[in-house]
Amino acid sequence: MKACLLHSPAPVERNPLEFGDAPDPQPAPGEVLVRVKMCGICRTDLHVVEGELPPKKSPVIPGHQIVGVVEKLREGAHRFKIGDRVGIPWLHSTDQTCEFCRSGAENLCDHPTFTGWTVDGGYAELAVAPEDFVYAIPNSFADQHAAPLLCAGIIGFRCLRLSGIKRGGRLAFYGFGAAAHIAVQVARHWGAEVYAATRGAKHQQLALQLGAVWAGEATEAPPDKLDAAIIFAPAGELVPQALGALKKGGVLVLGGIHMSPIPSFDYHLLYQERVIRSVANNTRIDGEDFLRVAAEIPIHSQTTLYPLREANRALNDLKSDRVNGAAVLDCTR
Ligand SMILES: [Zn+2]
Ligand SMILES: [Zn+2]
Repeated sequence: MKACLLHSPAPVERNPLEFGDAPDPQPAPGEVLVRVKMCGICRTDLHVVEGELPPKKSPVIPGHQIVGVVEKLREGAHRFKIGDRVGIPWLHSTDQTCEFCRSGAENLCDHPTFTGWTVDGGYAELAVAPEDFVYAIPNSFADQHAAPLLCAGIIGFRCLRLSGIKRGGRLAFYGFGAAAHIAVQVARHWGAEVYAATRGAKHQQLALQLGAVWAGEATEAPPDKLDAAIIFAPAGELVPQALGALKKGGVLVLGGIHMSPIPSFDYHLLYQERVIRSVANNTRIDGEDFLRVAAEIPIHSQTTLYPLREANRALNDLKSDRVNGAAVLDCTR
């Protein structure tokens, strides 16, 4: 098969992914082999390619928002039929035995595998995954619009849940990329008022189009005090900024897997029962619930397509904020 391989992490400006031939992946018992149609690009891919997430496998094929068609089933795989359209997400597998898995927090599993980091992902023509960790994709979404739902969508949904935002509540997003442009649609559906603090006029414009009541620079204070805020940008300096915008008892959720150091800040920003919490991965229940809600609303994801061989260009565009909405690789060309 054709694939984009990462042999060793490097800044994306040096185009570290090599497009070429790789052996076809072989499904293990209980796994499905998927012919990849589209693979969404996530900021986490940037952290894998640039090495903020330490390499776990070399070479590795990045990519964990995979939409494709089941091409082969190994013994023990019965959930899907050949030809079914499925999605492979970031959470590739868990041990299902550790204390976290047993208590319904498999997102915190002690022995997880992650698609496109610890095992090969979807910047390729073929990918494999355990059937239990694969999602059925609702019919209403085209392949390219389904891809960003699989991480940007699901993680954004978990962030919304953990923010505790309620109908009539005020919620801000810091950073307005793939995750926020989907989460704003869910938050609006739930009746929350949304504020977008983000770099760049294009991202601010998109936020307003999607129903935000205010959009400004990340360094500006939103005009109203907030019940909750979610930081999607990997910028630790936004933490004191966002805390300062919260009401008493407000919740700040950090949605990324990597963040630059958080500067020290005065205790009064946190006092009055404000809460800071991170979000790590997601459970399969989050994923199933989100995909159902996404089809109900329905979510419209805005995508920019790149051919598989141009994954380096897509990552460069993501890094320099040139993608509005979500970048998606077309793995069929
Ligand atoms: Zn576990
Ligand atoms: Zn992701």
